[in-house]
Amino acid sequence: MPLLRGNLHAHTTFSDGVRSPAALVEEYERRGYDFLAITDHDDHDNLEPSAYERAILRLAPQLLLFRGIELNYPRFAQHVGRIDGDEETLWVLNHPSRYRLSVAETIDRMHEIRRWGWPLAAIEVTDTGHYRELYDTPEIPLVKIATDDAHRPPHFGRAWVEVDAPRSRDAIIRAIRAGDVRIVFAPAS
Ligand SMILES: [Zn+2]
Repeated sequence: MPLLRGNLHAHTTFSDGVRSPAALVEEYERRGYDFLAITDHDDHDNLEPSAYERAILRLAPQLLLFRGIELNYPRFAQHVGRIDGDEETLWVLNHPSRYRLSVAETIDRMHEIRRWGWPLAAIEVTDTGHYRELYDTPEIPLVKIATDDAHRPPHFGRAWVEVDAPRSRDAIIRAIRAGDVRIVFAPAS
């Protein structure tokens, strides 16, 4: 089975991204991605939930599209990615480096957010596609993923995941949760 290449974190004009959902999909199709999650910010003025939902459902992508959202944890500044499959959901602790967390603080946050009811399974070891090696450690008991958190050029295509799974949303999520995923970076430009 060929590895599937995908980006699990990207923004559109429904929050602070510069591409419409259709243009974002086109950007990643042009780059040869197999899957993409659109994950706009839940608290952004541009995000009107039903319009967001409708805009995504109207798309007719070639790639496998995931609906998602970037949530604000309500008790402190921490973004959490929720990526929806058909039955499965993937919960991601987003860009810990942006909050300058130590490894111990990251693990504490993971426990608190899980107790809150968001069952984190993965963590970004990237910030807008830049590698943040500190978090790529077995001490943190979460699956490590890379995303480009695309808002605008030059974020697109800086980092992605490759997954050994059948081409279905739920199979991809299950493979990631099982750790059957590798992180890949574009050559520095
Ligand atoms: Zn984001």
